[in-house]
Amino acid sequence: MDYFAHIAWSYILFNKTKKPFYAILFGVLPDSLSWLFFTIYLLFKGESFQQAAGGIPDWVFTLYNISHSMFTFLLVLGIVYLIWRKIPIYIWAWPIHILIDIPTHTREFLPTPFLWPVSEWVFPGISWGTPWFMFTNWTIITFVLISLYILKKRKKNTII
Ligand SMILES: [Zn+2]
Repeated sequence: MDYFAHIAWSYILFNKTKKPFYAILFGVLPDSLSWLFFTIYLLFKGESFQQAAGGIPDWVFTLYNISHSMFTFLLVLGIVYLIWRKIPIYIWAWPIHILIDIPTHTREFLPTPFLWPVSEWVFPGISWGTPWFMFTNWTIITFVLISLYILKKRKKNTII
């Protein structure tokens, strides 16, 4: 799914928690670690995406594999638990990102390597860029965000 839809869904799912902003950070972590890094790298080099299109460096794909793997997530989850003895709720936005990506990427273009490095099997999903999917997804996001906004406003008014 696209970067902004990940932000929106992370907010929708975690807006009732204490730190929805952290959930958003974890919700875009897999794409931030790969594509955002790459974009910043290009900015520093003064290149555009088109210029780099001929060769997206291997390290971007390696980072994509690492950040979109359930095994990486489980490893980090284990380390977090060992250190803090508790699991912060916002960290779950990360595997939710992976679960959303699995059916919204085709095998041909950036399939989600959720089993990396154990297996190369990927799910034959549909592209999130498919117009009807983009339209449906963003219609639902807009509807839910407006509903959340109205509900929050109403709650405020009843308190006063
Ligand atoms: Zn992703």
